Amino acid sequence: MTHEARGGAQASALAHNYAPLPVTIASAEGSWATDVTGRRHLDMLAGYSALNFGHRHPALVAAAHAQLDRVTLTSRAFGHDLLEPFAARLAALVGPHLSPSPGHAASDPLVLPMNSGAEAVETAIKVARRWGYDVKGVAPGRATIVVGTGNFHGRTTTIVSFSDDDDARAGFGPYTPGFRLVPYGDADAVEAAIDDTTVAVLMEPVQGESGVVVPPDDFWPRLRTITAARDVLLVADEIQSGLGRTGTTLACELWGVRPDVVTLGKALGGGIVPVSAVVGRRDVLEVLTPGSHGSTFGGNPLACAVGLAVVDLLATGEPQAAATELGVVLHAGLRALVDDALLTGVRGVGLWAGVDVDPHVATGRELCEALLARGVLAKDTHGSTIRLAPPLTTSRADLELGLDRLRDALTDLVARRAAG
Ligand SMILES: *Cc1c(COP(=O)(O)O)cnc(C)c1O
Repeated sequence: MTHEARGGAQASALAHNYAPLPVTIASAEGSWATDVTGRRHLDMLAGYSALNFGHRHPALVAAAHAQLDRVTLTSRAFGHDLLEPFAARLAALVGPHLSPSPGHAASDPLVLPMNSGAEAVETAIKVARRWGYDVKGVAPGRATIVVGTGNFHGRTTTIVSFSDDDDARAGFGPYTPGFRLVPYGDADAVEAAIDDTTVAVLMEPVQGESGVVVPPDDFWPRLRTITAARDVLLVADEIQSGLGRTGTTLACELWGVRPDVVTLGKALGGGIVPVSAVVGRRDVLEVLTPGSHGSTFGGNPLACAVGLAVVDLLATGEPQAAATELGVVLHAGLRALVDDALLTGVRGVGLWAGVDVDPHVATGRELCEALLARGVLAKDTHGSTIRLAPPLTTSRADLELGLDRLRDALTDLVARRAAG
């Protein structure tokens, strides 16, 4: 691609690994972002759920400000006074929804803080492999992990090795072995892929990047039964689905399933700093020993201060309840657009939806541009699908405004197509 095609006359110093919508944001508050020209936009993407609590939530900003005036980084070479409280409160929030260790009545999980989502997934993979060798007795170097088609778990070389999205994977080999890709949502295929080398099944409860794909209702319950019977860890990547988005703290709660290990990220940093974590069964995370894993920034004081404030918000149950209530409005509004033949499909749960537009009418990108022209921020995923994930703090009136603008954009695109 030429410089002209990339960014106009002036060559950009930025690597071209994104194709952002043409808007430059200067400030934001709650569900609204203001661009450099002073125009306000309703944010219906919320940083892919990193902004579940909106832009600059007062409690989260206050926690960050207070921490900036105390201590921001220690490295894990030393302790700091928020590390244990953060781990304890996150364990208390998530623990009841995790599987207890064998022989224990209640879950008593361990927390391992990292920074990005991909690092949390990498950590979960390492933990599962080591658990496989040390506890399950898998032959050295032979561990396998079952993953689903259409997955998105991040961008590292190991993680893209088991992606089936050519855009994410092509050109980055040699690929890390040890992963078995089976159709997402097909529990029989998962069962058939498991053998004595299998240490984990790693999947997203709802596939976000793939277009908010909700699996069949019996999928996760069956995964739980199958993995328990075969001594395989059930690892749920809740980086996008977790922390309120689906109306529950973990999406796995929707089916009453308690995984052995979860990865969390995105919203855990409150839209302020990158914070991720692996939370899992004590007997599983205990396979890690000093020196076997780490991160310079993982669990830093600023991250813990914000993460603690996020956990406090979720501990009230209010964000989850808001996602459920607003989700009813969102899905009713989107179904009406399907009924009026303005959309071809809608999927999702809670305040989270993937919508398909007729590819003859518009690409997802074109729809997002039409939304941007109407002051709404959303992002296409693949082809003619866009993802809607407004902040859980969005008012009902703003959500209805966003739905009205979506209807207007679609009506206009359909009319233009009909006009030729
Ligand atoms: C975003 C995402 C990741 C990767 O998180 P990063 O912070 O971008 O590394 C992993 N898994 C899922 C399900 C995600 O949505």
